Amino acid sequence: MTNRVVLIGHPVAHSFSGAMQQAAFDALEIDARYELWDRRQIDLADAIAELRGDDFLGANITIPHKEHVVPLVDRLTDDAAATGAVNVISRDGTKLVGHNTDVTGFKAALDKVVGRQKMPRHAVVLGAGGASRAVVSALISEGFQRVVVFNRHLHRAEGLVRHFNRSASHMDLRAMPWHESVLEAELSKTKLVVNATAVGLLPGETPIPAELLPPDIFVIDLIYNPPLTQLLKDAAAARDTTLGGELMLLQQGARAFEMWTGRPAPVEVMQAELDRTREFGLRQPPVSMDRAGGAAVDPAAGGAPAGGAAAGPSA
Ligand code: NAP
Repeated sequence: MTNRVVLIGHPVAHSFSGAMQQAAFDALEIDARYELWDRRQIDLADAIAELRGDDFLGANITIPHKEHVVPLVDRLTDDAAATGAVNVISRDGTKLVGHNTDVTGFKAALDKVVGRQKMPRHAVVLGAGGASRAVVSALISEGFQRVVVFNRHLHRAEGLVRHFNRSASHMDLRAMPWHESVLEAELSKTKLVVNATAVGLLPGETPIPAELLPPDIFVIDLIYNPPLTQLLKDAAAARDTTLGGELMLLQQGARAFEMWTGRPAPVEVMQAELDRTREFGLRQPPVSMDRAGGAAVDPAAGGAPAGGAAAGPSA
């Protein structure tokens, strides 16, 4: 029986996870297939229920479902409970276990960008979705003293701050409205800015106008496709220390692989596949669309995606 691992999100077509994980399965001769399931929130519970079938090793969860999945699994690991977001599901017998490997993935990115310099203590985080929760959780455990979360919809950032109420009680974690003047004032006081929004997936768009970026600030953009977002281009022009989302993708993916298979991840193979994908483009399996997509395709049955790939970029 060929085992299955799925990426569940909306959209999913531009994700590099499938290429990276399939290369790892193939390199270790593990009989497993990575599938892309484009599912809206209304179809999420059914998709998660399907994972209880014997042929599934687990799943990745991506934009916009990482928080919605929390009540749908049987158990959460400490990182998933701490963040209130799940990006990996594994099986424990018939039980589904929710993990958050974005936290360790982000820590790897933070260590890389800071390098030998002193770890900053103040950060600005843009976005308040599932990825932002992993970032904030990592910053709290790294000993940051002040973290300010900006989000288009302020109430979501406020909900994030409430979620971390207890673990951040020793520090200053706050939500602020996304007004340019407020953002500018906060950026002038900080040493690290993290883009955890989806803004930058499209060419030319950026969450922060170039002129608001101080010259001596670390910039991490979680977006990895495109590898060089407008934010990173603008920051590099100001000679900042910058990093895109690829290292985080690799590290969170390696931890996920180990949870599904119980084997050490072939990190070099996964990195080589990411390099190849960046250079030559995606070599993806068909996307299975949800009911609303109108083209339910079961890649397991060898069907072609009648509706084509989902529009728009994904995590
Ligand atoms: P999510 O839960 O759906 O959250 C999306 C976030 O983006 C929210 O804060 C949302 O703000 C904001 N946003 C979306 N469109 C916006 C717009 N037009 N203007 C302003 N804000 C906008 O998604 P997620 O899972 O947190 O993912 C967020 C980003 O992180 C994605 O780009 C994803 O690719 C990336 N990511 C990368 C990695 C990696 O390994 N490198 C891992 C995880 C995520 P509202 O709440 O106001 O809608």
